[in-house]
Amino acid sequence: MKDLSCIFCKISSGKIPSAKIYEDEEFFAFLDIKPINSGHALLIPKKHSVNLYKITDEVFARMAPVIKKLAVAVKKAVSADGINIGMNNDPAAGQLVFHTHIHIIPRYSEDGFKHWRGKRAYKDGEINQVAEKIKQTIWH
Ligand code: 5GP
Ligand code: ZN
Repeated sequence: MKDLSCIFCKISSGKIPSAKIYEDEEFFAFLDIKPINSGHALLIPKKHSVNLYKITDEVFARMAPVIKKLAVAVKKAVSADGINIGMNNDPAAGQLVFHTHIHIIPRYSEDGFKHWRGKRAYKDGEINQVAEKIKQTIWH
């Protein structure tokens, strides 16, 4: 259930203090210690899983309405102009803590953060080849 070496397991079980904003039987949410903007929250399942690939479909599905509830509350509480929902899976995607978590990040029109820009268009026909490859992978 808990991974004794995992910092987020320690946070959800109260062994390490956190600024908790929400808790139910299955989930725990607290403020990120290094926020993108004030109110930046992290939602985690109490049951340890490493990331998106390992969390069960059932738990992940039950997480969705909690993400929504917290996003609405954070936006209102800090009078944000918008909310980004994020999930980093694997180090290449920026994952630093290996316990499944969703970032709920308040945003402001003038907060200065820039969005990712697409790097280049696909070559002729390439977009359909990639789509085909992904479609085949879904069913295998
Ligand atoms: P990741 O890059 O893995 O998606 O994000 C991990 C997040 O956890 C980071 O934004 C980081 O600031 C936050 N974090 C790491 N350790 C702690 C901690 O001990 N307490 C809190 N509240 N946040 C943490
Ligand atoms: Zn954990």
